[in-house]
Amino acid sequence: MQEFSGKVAVVTGGASGIGFGIAARAAREGMRVVLADIEADALERAAAELRATGADVLTVPTDVARAESVAALAERAVAAYGGVHLLVNNAGVVSGGPLWERTLADWEWVMGVNLWGVVHGIRSFVPLMLAQENGGYIVNTASAAGLVTAPSLGIYTVTKHAVVAISETLSAQLAQQRGTVKVSVLCPMWVNTRLVDSERNRPVTFQNPAIEADPTPAEVEAIRPMIESGKSPDEIADAVFAAIRDERFYILPHPEVAPLVRRRMEGILSAFEPS
Ligand code: NAD
Repeated sequence: MQEFSGKVAVVTGGASGIGFGIAARAAREGMRVVLADIEADALERAAAELRATGADVLTVPTDVARAESVAALAERAVAAYGGVHLLVNNAGVVSGGPLWERTLADWEWVMGVNLWGVVHGIRSFVPLMLAQENGGYIVNTASAAGLVTAPSLGIYTVTKHAVVAISETLSAQLAQQRGTVKVSVLCPMWVNTRLVDSERNRPVTFQNPAIEADPTPAEVEAIRPMIESGKSPDEIADAVFAAIRDERFYILPHPEVAPLVRRRMEGILSAFEPS
């Protein structure tokens, strides 16, 4: 995709962090922006910040884990702007700890946002992009944890590997269509955002019983220093837009990820011992 001006971008998890960085960059490119997020106050604050720069912004409170909520997002975007040219499936939450100790609520919450959120985005937006004359572009936010395993962030790692697999599959399937809808997958390492405080958006349905309440589990708290010294969301947004322009599938803004991927792949091809 070479031209952005006047086109429409939908960004889930757009109220904060990487999503907000991408939305702000889309607005600077002259795109009309649909911000979707579960955190209503932050959503309105984010929209006000973008509108102050002259951007045309629509806010749609959305829970990406719910199919009907994402379908409604697509309908609102089309009703307001007539189409969607860029979808960024970016909303995400983090949870860590031994897989057997986490509750079903933990599994369902993180899988719901990180994995089902992407599935719902694909099912609601790909058909309308395929039907549009000028096609569209999808960016799925995975993580470096989708390319290598990060044992301390167990459930998170599971979901991000799934997002990479979904993105590769989707890209190959869309290439067999008219080739008008393209996909990239974003795999950053540390980025300075509010990810560590994901629990702020855990719906009541997925709260753990009081005895297990654990606002920021130790494994998640442990990554706070890395997150705080990570790249800025604006740097990630630059990498995303460069990749969209070049229609590059993998977006790896952190060069230090490459040797980790190589080591894992070489491990798979020799005697594989997960490390
Ligand atoms: P963030 O917490 O700053 O932003 C995430 C946004 O998602 C928030 O605005 C939050 O309200 C929203 N959200 C949470 N649950 C939602 C739901 N059910 N429906 C809709 N929106 C919801 O964190 P971030 O780091 O900007 O996270 C964005 C994406 O980047 C995530 O997918 C995350 O896994 C990924 N990522 C982050 C890093 C990092 O170091 N920060 C690294 C790799 C990948």
